[in-house]
Amino acid sequence: MNKIKLGISGISGKMGQNVFEIASKDDAFEIVAGFHNSDADFRGVKCYSDVKDFLSNIDVCIDFSSKDNLIKLLHEAILFNSVAIVSGTTGLSEQDHTELKNYGKVAKIFWASNFSIGVSILKNILGKLLPIINNYDFDIELLEKHHKFKKDAPSGTAVSLLQQIAAFKNKPLEEVVHYNSVENPVREDGKVGVAFQRGGGVIGEHELSFFGTFEELSIKHTAYDRKVFANGAITAAKWLLQQNDGYFSMKDII
Ligand code: NAD
Repeated sequence: MNKIKLGISGISGKMGQNVFEIASKDDAFEIVAGFHNSDADFRGVKCYSDVKDFLSNIDVCIDFSSKDNLIKLLHEAILFNSVAIVSGTTGLSEQDHTELKNYGKVAKIFWASNFSIGVSILKNILGKLLPIINNYDFDIELLEKHHKFKKDAPSGTAVSLLQQIAAFKNKPLEEVVHYNSVENPVREDGKVGVAFQRGGGVIGEHELSFFGTFEELSIKHTAYDRKVFANGAITAAKWLLQQNDGYFSMKDII
């Protein structure tokens, strides 16, 4: 059986290294190309300074890099060879998401703000919880924690949870979210308070709390190892190659 030719974008980063480690032990893959902030090869994988060269000989690209790099990759791929792309890069604007979806009209693309099974289950539970809790007087707060090097806030996962709540309330995101801060301490009724912490090596934690007058209910997910995300991206890559062109996410496989 022919191996899947894999290219890893962001190969030297925290996530890229985890994807490399898992894929290099998986017989289904041959890691043929890397892309990062340098053209130095990474652990024996040829890395390219030009995106076109990186894309030229791969079946699928797994990308955990930066917003700018992902968009550059998409622009080249759309002009060049429409390679399948699996990306977990966060901090994207609405326009960036539109570009991802447009790519799905001509190629296979899978994007997820969080590749863990636990967060997919949390979203599923949230979908069932919202119509119930909405009948009562509960305030919702979201707290997310990540390592001190994280560049975006709130996290992509936090944004997707907030979008889910906004969609349930049938309101635009801006009308639903209240960013907790000293300048903005009082939350309007019905809004979701959002806070984040950055420190040390925290891989990722998301906690949704529902506060009643005399009680609190919470659902929380903690990632203990980046391998949870890397495994999810690798599973998604294998799955994506079996699909027709389109834009996919975790809800399509879980
Ligand atoms: P990191 O800073 O450790 O690594 C980033 C990698 O991308 C590096 O190899 C760097 O060289 C490369 N890179 C960045 N900008 C580039 C550019 N302009 N050109 C070429 N290469 C570039 O970051 P990380 O912790 O590995 O996270 C990467 C992304 O993945 C972030 O957006 C993060 O939020 C996201 N992430 C997503 C999930 C998920 O499950 N979806 C999980 C963890 C992290």
